[in-house]
Amino acid sequence: MSIIPAILLSLTIMVPAYAENVFWRYAVDRYERSVLMDKLEVPSGLNPYEFLAGELGYDAWITRDEKSVVILSEQASSGEVPILCLHKIGDDDNYALTPQRFRELLQYINANGWYMVTDSQYLKKDFSRVPTGLKPIVMGSDDASYGTLIYQTVGDSLTGRVRRFFGKPIMERDSMAAILERYAKKEDNRINFTFYVSFDAVPFRQLDGYKNPGFPYRNIPVVAEKIRYLDNNFILGIHALSHIYAYEMGIHEFAEDVLAAWNVLDEYAGAEALTVQTLAFPFGIENLSAELESLISSLSRNGRRLVGGFDLDNAPAAPPGSLKKPFEVSRINVDNSRWQETLNTLNSINAVSARREIIWETASKRLPNERLLLGAAPSDGVWVLVKDD
Ligand SMILES: [Zn+2]
Repeated sequence: MSIIPAILLSLTIMVPAYAENVFWRYAVDRYERSVLMDKLEVPSGLNPYEFLAGELGYDAWITRDEKSVVILSEQASSGEVPILCLHKIGDDDNYALTPQRFRELLQYINANGWYMVTDSQYLKKDFSRVPTGLKPIVMGSDDASYGTLIYQTVGDSLTGRVRRFFGKPIMERDSMAAILERYAKKEDNRINFTFYVSFDAVPFRQLDGYKNPGFPYRNIPVVAEKIRYLDNNFILGIHALSHIYAYEMGIHEFAEDVLAAWNVLDEYAGAEALTVQTLAFPFGIENLSAELESLISSLSRNGRRLVGGFDLDNAPAAPPGSLKKPFEVSRINVDNSRWQETLNTLNSINAVSARREIIWETASKRLPNERLLLGAAPSDGVWVLVKDD
């Protein structure tokens, strides 16, 4: 007797006759019935998500648990991500955009398949909240200038008392935050738009009758009210305390200035600004040195660190899967002088198109409850993963 059948026999024993993990694609058939189809057996010993990502041709991927489903999303390594930087609302050619154009920009984004992600979602390569087929875009504004968040006042708009309705300040309808509230979509009750605050002037410029304390403009009650509102409803970012170009200030002084700004933001937010994770360099940053990157990335407050920093070089940013320098990320300056150019860029850019799969893990083959699938967009792949533990 030859030795070969013995080897075959031992192989047969080692490899189970059934797959441990099986994917079924959830779909609706032509009679509008929910069905499970396209059975995909995961070879023994393989991570099921890694296997599915490979089958679907994902460049790289992450998973995120959300309620009772797992979201598998691609970290694209080709295409581009536009990161738009605004400054103030107004008629100036440079560093201002009219309220009408800002409304148009948000309507354009909604109507043309864009999805606003946060700057830190981009840096963490996490597009798991973006429905398949939509194009991630990042937006924010620098400086906390006039027009970004303005309350109505009695008398002078900078020094006058804020108008209130049952204690709540009334926002100027043409201010950036008010326009965003009206036209931008929310994600978990928050608008993915970052306000990078500097302290070289009164943040947002209004005093509500309070005496101007001078640089670095700490302890102004109406500023605290605005910072907390933004921390709860938008995203806050650091734009340094003194707003001086890093290489002009000196990199050690600049790093201290960034930490000082973080400190004042935390103080205004009431102990800790929850959303602060990023920095926008004042006037951008030319050729970020390894030493400056190391200084900025090792700053910490209460155990927190920054996940990245932003330049202002009018170039689109790399796709997350090819992001090499998280502290020197390109942004596009949007203002009245570049308005048409911005629209042309958005129209012609080779944007990343998000891809994700919504996966429900279960111990036996069955249809997912409709309620589990509410978070899925029609374009998302939906799968049932039958796990045999
Ligand atoms: Zn600035």
